Amino acid sequence: EDDLALLAGGDDVTDRAEPAGPPPVLAVVGRPNVGKSTLVNRILGRREAVVQDTPGVTRDRVSYPADWSGRQFTLVDTGGWERDAKGLGSRVADQAEIAIALADAVLFVVDAVVGPTDEDEYVVRMLRRAGKPTLLVANKVDDQRGEADAALLWSLGLGEPYPVSALHGRGSGDLLDAALEVLPETSAVGGEIPEGGPRRVALVGRPNVGKSSLLNAISGAHRVVVDEVAGTTRDPVDELVVVGGRPWWFVDTAGIRRRVHQTSGADFYASLRTQSALEKAEVGVVLIDASVPMTEQDIRVVQQVIDAGRSLVIAYNKWDLMDDDRRSFLDREIEQQLVQVPWAPRVNFSAKTGWHTNRLVRALDTALESWDTRIPTGKLNAFLGEVTAAKPHPVRSGKQPRILFATQASTRPPRFVLFTTGFLDPGYRRFVERRLRETFGFEGTPISIGVRVRE
Ligand code: GDP
Ligand code: GDP
Repeated sequence: EDDLALLAGGDDVTDRAEPAGPPPVLAVVGRPNVGKSTLVNRILGRREAVVQDTPGVTRDRVSYPADWSGRQFTLVDTGGWERDAKGLGSRVADQAEIAIALADAVLFVVDAVVGPTDEDEYVVRMLRRAGKPTLLVANKVDDQRGEADAALLWSLGLGEPYPVSALHGRGSGDLLDAALEVLPETSAVGGEIPEGGPRRVALVGRPNVGKSSLLNAISGAHRVVVDEVAGTTRDPVDELVVVGGRPWWFVDTAGIRRRVHQTSGADFYASLRTQSALEKAEVGVVLIDASVPMTEQDIRVVQQVIDAGRSLVIAYNKWDLMDDDRRSFLDREIEQQLVQVPWAPRVNFSAKTGWHTNRLVRALDTALESWDTRIPTGKLNAFLGEVTAAKPHPVRSGKQPRILFATQASTRPPRFVLFTTGFLDPGYRRFVERRLRETFGFEGTPISIGVRVRE
């Protein structure tokens, strides 16, 4: 039984160690106007001219690749969040809480000239609860005279304040040296995601289906331009993007942003890239150009997501180009070509106009929730008892295999093992899968059913 081989190695999807994990995440938090954005730009080495955000431009992009002393890390900027009141909630606390949850270590910025405020105290309590390594940044210490102000911040109980002038750069080197000391080698939050952390999404699909258009539509093309101006030439590999008011990791975005030329063998490399993106992701969004006939390659990408054991969302893009004829033809194509995945949530949108792109989040949530689902053993066996009583396995050469017992061996994706008295027909196994899905949902996740025969 092929599924047995899959199960024999244990939980091979979730237990696989990442070769070199993602860089550690350093979040910059604090109340408005203490100088968080200025500090972020200082760390990224940007000129002041690009510091200012254009008023009214929603800043969705929150993370940037950064390095210091040859070490790379991801810098999370919360500076613009409070100005985007709709997205993450208007309270500073909400935003800080998310940023802290995302981070391996935190730079907590306080305005040393103003001194500690109630809002600062609130964030301090939150930091204590979170227990993340925290450095207290006493900002706006532009000269020697300010050092006394900085010393007053000992009262916050977060240890030694680091006097810094984000504006002029004073003290920022010492701060970064100290930050590197508390950051782990690789991120503990960006790899295997703890409960409640941002989920990892791979946008996949053949060339020209609209992956980069979608990424730009949801993360704000504006941000990319700013990066180029600032001279950070390195493409971000994984980007933290706020969609539907929550942060998500979009993995391997470098390959999406950089337009790759069509050369011979491009298919092969495209499929390798898809593979590696899926390895880092929890959910694969397969984009399909709805305006043209579906191709073999579209189906192959869907299959890659399933083979990788990732949850799946199918996204039909370019809906602005659809007419009635094409629409009914597409319905038929889906029926014929995507028969194996009736369980995948579908969204139709236009990355170009932005129409219905906001529906992506619900589909992602659905698929991920299914991927995480665990059916308690008692419930599973009660269910199987009913199913097999209503429709027993057909008799084969005088024997009738029975299911003795079943258990869910793992989640992400759900894998089941059935202990039986004989091999099950593939048809019967599909029947069991169908009934499992009818009963427990599993919308958006592949499931596997292994069989172990007890002689
Ligand atoms: P944020 O809201 O926390 O992101 O704060 P900003 O980075 O937008 O800074 C708020 C204001 O404080 C701006 O006018 C900055 O120019 C100013 N500022 C930031 N850092 C410093 C600093 O080190 N010294 C002085 N004097 N002003 C600063
Ligand atoms: P990628 O290769 O998958 O990243 O695809 P791109 O995002 O580069 O898009 C390929 C082409 O399709 C570009 O010319 C886009 O402008 C166009 N495109 C992307 N999304 C849409 C859409 O929703 N509607 C229309 N009409 N064109 C789109």
